[in-house]
Amino acid sequence: MEMFSEATLTRDSLTAVIGIAEKFKLERGRKPVFMEVCGSHTMALARTGIKNRLKEHVCLIAGPGCPVCVTDQKSIDAMIQLSEGADRILCTFGDMMRVPGSKFSLMKAKTEGKDIRVVYSPIDSVKIAEENPNKEVIFLGIGFETTIPILALAVQEAMKKDLKNYSIWMTTKLVEPVLRALLDSGEVHLDGFLLPGHVSVVLGKQTYHYLVEDYAISGVITGFEPVQLLSGIYKLIELQLNKKVDILNDYTYVVKEEGNLVAQQLMEEYLMPYDEAWRGMGSIPDSGLVLKEKYAQFDAKKRYKVACEEPRKTKCRCGEIIRGLITPEECSLFKKGCTPLNPIGPCMVSTEGTCAAHYQYMWEE
Ligand code: SF4
Repeated sequence: MEMFSEATLTRDSLTAVIGIAEKFKLERGRKPVFMEVCGSHTMALARTGIKNRLKEHVCLIAGPGCPVCVTDQKSIDAMIQLSEGADRILCTFGDMMRVPGSKFSLMKAKTEGKDIRVVYSPIDSVKIAEENPNKEVIFLGIGFETTIPILALAVQEAMKKDLKNYSIWMTTKLVEPVLRALLDSGEVHLDGFLLPGHVSVVLGKQTYHYLVEDYAISGVITGFEPVQLLSGIYKLIELQLNKKVDILNDYTYVVKEEGNLVAQQLMEEYLMPYDEAWRGMGSIPDSGLVLKEKYAQFDAKKRYKVACEEPRKTKCRCGEIIRGLITPEECSLFKKGCTPLNPIGPCMVSTEGTCAAHYQYMWEE
């Protein structure tokens, strides 16, 4: 039996995508335009060279899929205020440490002596609360549907342990409301979405029916390997050329039609919709989840009063990057004032941010 290496498959897939994209260009007089809404896809498309290699044939735009990038500046300011108390321990994911708030970042607050700890999972923050019964432990709960069930699990764990000193500052994000807001805005014109593999594991293929029914736009759920990404792009172009609108699951070995029912039940049990603020997009109705009233004791927003000012306007254009309106090179600070070592905005801070991906893999002198 003939064996094909990954490199051979990738090269052949690339040739196939370029071929079908050229057909599209011939028929429509322009390149096909697709958006990915997952930070891991953004990084994978840049790191593998696919985005660079396809740039003459397919326009790939990064959308609001990086959880760090879409977190509102006010949440950082709130956490910095919360860190003021001597009896407090703040916990967060590593990427959030360097995201600038109005005045400074959580990293700066930590260097000034505040007890701010990086954890890999919300469950680790529950353990810290258990080990520090005389301190209030607050976790900054960011993330999309991939992370949200784990936040619910953390609350379940804190209840089991009867912890009175644990709470979560919920600033979670949901995919459907932001895609609807983006499409309703009419700001971007797309031929389809590369749909997020991880989120789809939780929500299932069935969650995306609104794209077809309400917006007549296609999507392909795809994985993160070069061949998977190229296959997703190929299928999106093929749907266009065949004048079909559909949602395809190209990541079937992990994404099921109905998703992960256990994770969905956890979210249903502990959380309810909430008008969440998004960086660069403002408040979007029911676009986040917060703890239900019966779990209010674990809701940091209910336990602590913080007053944050409206963020000051800066030259950082992350808001437009997140909405897919500009490329990083169109920001005057890109690689001048703003680099991965000295990031001005979250799109450069995050390991999955569009500006960071562009800086590392796409920028040519
Ligand atoms: Fe913001 Fe820096 Fe990106 Fe400009 S290059 S949009 S300042 S993160």
